[in-house]
Amino acid sequence: MKYSYVSNLYCPKCGTRFNTREQHQLCSCGTPLLVDYDLETLQMNLTAEELKSRDDSLWRYHELLPVEDSENVVSMGEGMTPLISLSNLGEEMCMENLFMKDEGLIPTGTFKARGAAVGVSKAKEVGVKELAMPTNGNAGSAWALYSAKAGLKSTVVMPKDAPEITRKEVALSGANLYLVNGLISDAGKIVGKAVKDYNLFDAATLKEPYRIEGKKTMGLEIAEQLKWKLPDVIVYPTGGGVGLIGIYKALKELKKLGWVKGELPRLVAVQSTGCAPIVKAWEEGKTESEFWKDSSTLAFGINVPKALGDFLVLDAIYNTDGCAIAVDDESIIFEQEKLAGLEGSFVCPEGAATFAAIRRLRKQGWIEQNETVVGLNTGSGIKYPQSVKVSPKMLEKGDTI
Ligand SMILES: *Cc1c(COP(=O)(O)O)cnc(C)c1O
Ligand SMILES: [Zn+2]
Repeated sequence: MKYSYVSNLYCPKCGTRFNTREQHQLCSCGTPLLVDYDLETLQMNLTAEELKSRDDSLWRYHELLPVEDSENVVSMGEGMTPLISLSNLGEEMCMENLFMKDEGLIPTGTFKARGAAVGVSKAKEVGVKELAMPTNGNAGSAWALYSAKAGLKSTVVMPKDAPEITRKEVALSGANLYLVNGLISDAGKIVGKAVKDYNLFDAATLKEPYRIEGKKTMGLEIAEQLKWKLPDVIVYPTGGGVGLIGIYKALKELKKLGWVKGELPRLVAVQSTGCAPIVKAWEEGKTESEFWKDSSTLAFGINVPKALGDFLVLDAIYNTDGCAIAVDDESIIFEQEKLAGLEGSFVCPEGAATFAAIRRLRKQGWIEQNETVVGLNTGSGIKYPQSVKVSPKMLEKGDTI
């Protein structure tokens, strides 16, 4: 049986198709490319039931991933993270079916490992020797580490304010590391130039087509873990939006395969009040966002002033009757403490933002008491030692006796 049912790449704006055997970046019209699969044939050859006996990693869905030869798979066991019932937090928010998909338990400590595993594997398959990327930290560490395992060279450019731990991970992996006094958008400009000058492969968010496919597996796993019965709402902390685009793509593919039925979950994009371009666009009913000036938030992974795939994120929200909502840093800190105290989960600020948004949406009645809601915690709190706020009074309790 074929390892992958990938058929081609296509441009969601102008429709041009490309093959998956060569290196591709954006479409010539400047749009991110998406991956298509031969789902009709796959439907005849695979049932959802057959997945049960497979390895607990995202490669269990290899037919729906773009890597064509299993020899090229670069894996550290990523995927199949737990879907945890949050009954204590749920009770406090007056919700009966609240779940957390916990991406803190994954190599490199954030869900960026999914995009890196699939993106690096496919880069290797199409003959990439050296890649470059801008990052807010987590993607850079994941791609640098997976590149090291794959034997690819990498160059990573990140804002000097990005979490220090990610800088260390990149440096230890042997990648070329550059720091910029600016935002990820400034890092992106530097990478863009380096890519041209030195003929590197540009692995920036959505400039290569396969990171989405890795992140898509979150959607596949949520469906499988809920026994192919889709939740009512999925809530996602949105920066570049790749995870949300990926989850939406996964759910549509599952529907075409006939593995899930009924309406798709309402998809919610959560941003920070300090950087909310998608929320603003959604509130104004627009199909694209505008650059958000002077953005800042302690949830570094969602500090993206203008996402290349904004139109795809908005499309996913509109098509599922979802919404976009911004939460402030104070409510992020509040929710981080709630999750630790009520559920024993030390989540990253982006993950805390997810549950701060769920709390608000429940209060407003947008989420109903008995609805099944899955919130994404995109990484471990342990990766953000600097941004965790603990009052001196609480720390006193830990004094030596
Ligand atoms: C990158 C990142 C996000 C945002 O992911 P996108 O898919 O780019 O929107 C959220 N949380 C964490 C921890 C991240 O590193
Ligand atoms: Zn195009």
